[in-house]
Amino acid sequence: MSSSTLVEPLPSMKIREHHRQQEPDESKQSLALVSINGGGGTASSAPLVSSYNDRIRPLLDAVDRLRHLKITQEGIQLPTIVVVGDQSSGKSSVLESLAGISLPRGQGICTRVPLIMRLQNHQNPQPELFLEFNGKVVPTDEDHIAHAIVVATDEIAGQGKGISNHPLTLVVKKRGVPDLTMVDLPGITRVPVHGQPEDIYEQVSGIIMEYITPEESIILNVLSASVDFSTCESIRMSQRVDKTGQRTLAVVTKADRSPEGLLEKVTSDDVNIGLGYICVRNRIGDESYEEARAEEAALFHTHPQLSKISKSMVGVPVLAHKLVQVQAKIIVKCLPEIVRKINEKLSSNVEELNKLPRNMTNVAEAMTAFMHVLGAAKESLRKIMLRGEFNEYPNDKEMHCTARLTEMLNQYSQDLQSLGGAEEPKVAFLVKEMSVLEESKSIGLPNFLPRAAFMTLFQGKVNALSLAPVEFLDKMWSYIEKVVVAVLMQKAENYPQLLSSTRKAAQNLVATNKHKSVAWVTDMVEMEKVSDYTCHPDYSASWNKLMSHQKEFKEILGDPNRAPRLNMEGFGVVEVGHLRSLGVVVQEAFDIKMRLTAYWKIVLRRMVDFMALHLLFTIQNLINRDMEAEIINEIVGAQGNGLEKMLEESPGVAEKKERLKNSIRLLNESKEVVSNIMDQISALSMGK
Ligand code: GDP
Ligand code: MG
Repeated sequence: MSSSTLVEPLPSMKIREHHRQQEPDESKQSLALVSINGGGGTASSAPLVSSYNDRIRPLLDAVDRLRHLKITQEGIQLPTIVVVGDQSSGKSSVLESLAGISLPRGQGICTRVPLIMRLQNHQNPQPELFLEFNGKVVPTDEDHIAHAIVVATDEIAGQGKGISNHPLTLVVKKRGVPDLTMVDLPGITRVPVHGQPEDIYEQVSGIIMEYITPEESIILNVLSASVDFSTCESIRMSQRVDKTGQRTLAVVTKADRSPEGLLEKVTSDDVNIGLGYICVRNRIGDESYEEARAEEAALFHTHPQLSKISKSMVGVPVLAHKLVQVQAKIIVKCLPEIVRKINEKLSSNVEELNKLPRNMTNVAEAMTAFMHVLGAAKESLRKIMLRGEFNEYPNDKEMHCTARLTEMLNQYSQDLQSLGGAEEPKVAFLVKEMSVLEESKSIGLPNFLPRAAFMTLFQGKVNALSLAPVEFLDKMWSYIEKVVVAVLMQKAENYPQLLSSTRKAAQNLVATNKHKSVAWVTDMVEMEKVSDYTCHPDYSASWNKLMSHQKEFKEILGDPNRAPRLNMEGFGVVEVGHLRSLGVVVQEAFDIKMRLTAYWKIVLRRMVDFMALHLLFTIQNLINRDMEAEIINEIVGAQGNGLEKMLEESPGVAEKKERLKNSIRLLNESKEVVSNIMDQISALSMGK
């Protein structure tokens, strides 16, 4: 393709000329930020570096301020041009060419910390350079910059050859430089050289990945013309995070050393570089910046092979131009997302801060806060334990108390049923009843059923299950304790000073109530044993029903030809052969067993019903009446100094508050920075 009309690479001298002409009439510049694509026409008609500066500078300033505010600490990534490359590929030299200054370079690892380089064009012919690191600003100048960087690096990463991911910022304000902010990263080496840590490769690639992974990063991949690009470690790394290469730009250095085949290499694009290749020749030896640019221009114009490469793909000025465009695009693209993230972060921080307790200055305030905690806990407990509303704990099934308590009660009822009938199948039908009747006989009329026999049998049944109610209460109270403590701890979480006494009060409360419950249930079981009574009509009804089998029972016993089996509702088929020829006592035993069976149903039901009522009654009292008194007594009572303790803010909360406040301040500042710049962008695009 014919490239000469597209881009006229501008030697440095020309940059300056244009720059001077350009200054007075800024209004003529178009808003090139978003609309430019390709290295095209604008470059030939406008000065390379300054044409976008006045547009780009505010954008870049905004991003630099955000970077300075350390907004990345809030997890918000900033658009950044990241320079990567294998060791000695020429990264520092490229940056140097862009900035027109000397950076440390040479053998071994020189860039040992991320170097954030902020280039700013300024009008003053006198350049201004300074380093920012560890909270310091160290002014320097072009003659001393290389040394100053070495000193600063030593301070950050220690002397020797170790590396660090703590960045060093170099600000270069100089006439004619492109407004660019880039990060130079340590070069990748496979084999540690003498003095380097063993895991140098892992360390360096860790830092590089940290910088190139965010979608907001543009990867400036520096490749030496002398190597096969596909074998470059830096290409492998950038391909891992940017497969299609859409945010990767390649700079090919040392074009002067390996001109052969370079054209093919950069046009065939074997390694997927989406943003294109730019070939450069950096400063060599003691050349001045101007000499280097002139040499470069001459090289690409006259070299038989290099001159065939499109002019839109060669030279530091083209690189500068391209980078400025790419940078502007990515910043504009990222801003809305940055705004969104700032707002999101801000509102979640504000919300979190508001939830933290205020600082209290007197006991009255502490009392109010304390009563608030208590009130909130009571209300939550009422909801989950009494009303069955669990919107506060939608996913925590343990806290859906009404359902859990009902399940426990159902289980209790089942346990009673099975315990109460446990001894039935073991002895043959009516044998036990007959032996008890035998022992209860007394001198008197024969046709009275001895009540003592009934009571003996009945008490035996009650005894068999007398442990179950206590076990149930055990289980129930430990569940209640868990819930009550959990709710209280949650409501009082902002007052760590109160947690242990509140927990203690809740445990005491549960212990007292459990004690009372156990006493009550023991009495209830005893009461059952002492007397037999029910007014429930079910008793007579089911006794009558059972007794209706007695006729058939007698017939089977009296007729040796009939099978000795009786089918009775509630009993199933019972063997009765052993009862033949035993006389009247069998009929008495039959009657007593049927009474017992009818009554037992009533007793079991009564035990479950009463337990349920007891449960609800005690929980209600615990929440509405006893809890408050117990906790107040523990915290404010004779031995408690809880309110005084509440006045001292806990160190954890104070620290958290401080952190949130700082973060909110930072985010608000960032928000302002970004909204200013967004306003400017929209004003510019509307004004044109
Ligand atoms: P870094 O390790 O990637 O930062 O590489 P440097 O910028 O330190 O460069 C490594 C060596 O390559 C230095 O000796 C440079 O002078 C040399 N170098 C870099 N770019 C070029 C170039 O375009 N042409 C020539 N001939 N040498 C270069
Ligand atoms: Mg370097």
